Amino acid sequence: MTVSLRDAADRAPIACCDPCLVCAGGPFVAYAGGRPDLARCAACGFVTMRGGADPETLSSLYEQDYFHGAEYADYVRDRPALQRNFGERVKTMRRYCRSGTLLEIGCAYGFFLDLVRDQFDCRGYDRVETAVAYANKVLSLRAECKDFLAENSIPAGSIDVVAMWDVIEHLENPERYLERTRSLLKEGGYLFLTTGDIDSWNARRRKAKWRLIKIRSHLHFFSRDTIGRLLERQGFEVIDVSYPGYFRSIDQMLYNILVLGKNHPRLYRLLSFFIPRKAMLYINLFDIMCVVARRPRAASSTA
Ligand SMILES: [Zn+2]
Repeated sequence: MTVSLRDAADRAPIACCDPCLVCAGGPFVAYAGGRPDLARCAACGFVTMRGGADPETLSSLYEQDYFHGAEYADYVRDRPALQRNFGERVKTMRRYCRSGTLLEIGCAYGFFLDLVRDQFDCRGYDRVETAVAYANKVLSLRAECKDFLAENSIPAGSIDVVAMWDVIEHLENPERYLERTRSLLKEGGYLFLTTGDIDSWNARRRKAKWRLIKIRSHLHFFSRDTIGRLLERQGFEVIDVSYPGYFRSIDQMLYNILVLGKNHPRLYRLLSFFIPRKAMLYINLFDIMCVVARRPRAASSTA
């Protein structure tokens, strides 16, 4: 068998990310998706950003403009589409749990918590001060601007549900958040999360241009297999993985294409003037996973 120079280079170990946070092994090699800034674990296939995140870049990323300009056209204005999506996540949750205590990691402006506040005693955490202030003052929710890992006022084993919607790929140390989540959950308590699937047909087709490869904000890229392995390694039992679609406002779609993609802000402003704020489309590219996991009950528990 002939091995080309390029194939050999793709398989050469890269000293960047060992040990792998999914399988504890390695080595990491080049990611064959045309992105030199990504590396793949040769043992389990987990894809991550080479060299990790720059702390200064990370802290500056989650300023006010993350929700108004850098990632979203206007997160608050996009509330109808966002809450329609969260409404679908709530339907999934209710198949497993309908009441109790709930924590949301990465709650942003509180639009998800707002939908479950009547059924759950809930609180949220986010890094963006203006978002947390909105959740507290405008929506009268209980949200805190602090790192979830710094939360030490909640008794272990007291929480029924933890939600992390499109958050785990942003975390520098997702395994630490999962470990903390597990310790706070009751036995039999649920973790619900969404994240992209880098092994999906769309991600494999788009390679370096896959829409969820956002190098500034997304640090890790999971697949159905690697997210399952990480969760099981952190003591969770994976109950279900599905591929839900989502609603996207026409305004945000235009923003993604014209401003974030093509750098035509004036054209976007002109067109967005004519678009009804609640106009949205339902899309499913089957590249986002909704994962349901559970803290297993101890063997002696009979409940
Ligand atoms: Zn690995």
